[in-house]
Amino acid sequence: MQKLMAIFAHPDDEGAMGGTLAHYARNNTEVTLVCATRGEVGEISDPALATPETLGEVRQQELERACEVLGIQNLEFLDRRDSGMDGTPENEDPRALVQADPNDVKGQLVGLMRQYKPDIVVTFEPFGWYGHPDHIYMSKWATEAYELVGDAEQFPESGAPWQPKRLYHSVIPFSSFREMIQQAIDAGLIEGDGFSVDIPEERQLQTEAAVTHVIDIDAQFDRKQDSMMEHKTQFGEDNMFRKIPRDMMKKMSGHEHFIQVSPTPEDGLSQNRLTDLFS
Ligand SMILES: [Zn+2]
Repeated sequence: MQKLMAIFAHPDDEGAMGGTLAHYARNNTEVTLVCATRGEVGEISDPALATPETLGEVRQQELERACEVLGIQNLEFLDRRDSGMDGTPENEDPRALVQADPNDVKGQLVGLMRQYKPDIVVTFEPFGWYGHPDHIYMSKWATEAYELVGDAEQFPESGAPWQPKRLYHSVIPFSSFREMIQQAIDAGLIEGDGFSVDIPEERQLQTEAAVTHVIDIDAQFDRKQDSMMEHKTQFGEDNMFRKIPRDMMKKMSGHEHFIQVSPTPEDGLSQNRLTDLFS
């Protein structure tokens, strides 16, 4: 059985590649999701669902249900705390992921890779999709852990060395995403945008141009959307994603995008994109 490990920061991050996770989980693949935090400082869409004190616990349960919908077999937390958006006081909390000793986090990731022995590892691209500090740190630390996991001299206390075959960075193609949002606004389905991405457009286009693998998730699209809606504290009744019809969503997010990072892809792979992360 082939094995895939996805490494993200918060419950609901997995949704960005939810179709791919659901696809592989149904096709001879053991899927493990590693989530660094429990999203303790995220939104609370409805005060009946959680308080700031219980949000981490509630979001863990939401993620467990999302994993069931997607068919993800293994879920692991790094037990770090959500650092919040850049510049918020939550950044300074000593338990925050961004305050962690990088070697401790990398040691945890190396230990999990040696335990689950994935063939494929996926994490955020270096700008963390939209600049969330936890996403940026997890991209860096997961990428560095990937480079160390096969070396017996690194983290010898974290198990026998294991070398996965490929590392990918997950990309959200925000240019087509923005197009979808605009369509929904034009159609009178949603009002304002309420959606901002702090990445310079040129940088975003470069990231999108570097994509090497595109997975068609048509068959898993409903499952992906259903799994996202399990994150009720994040996607309340008024959330714009509940107001955009699935057909319109599918046109823009019916494919998921990845950059092969290791081994370095052959020249031209981004012009001739592959459709299977294991091929
Ligand atoms: Zn996140």
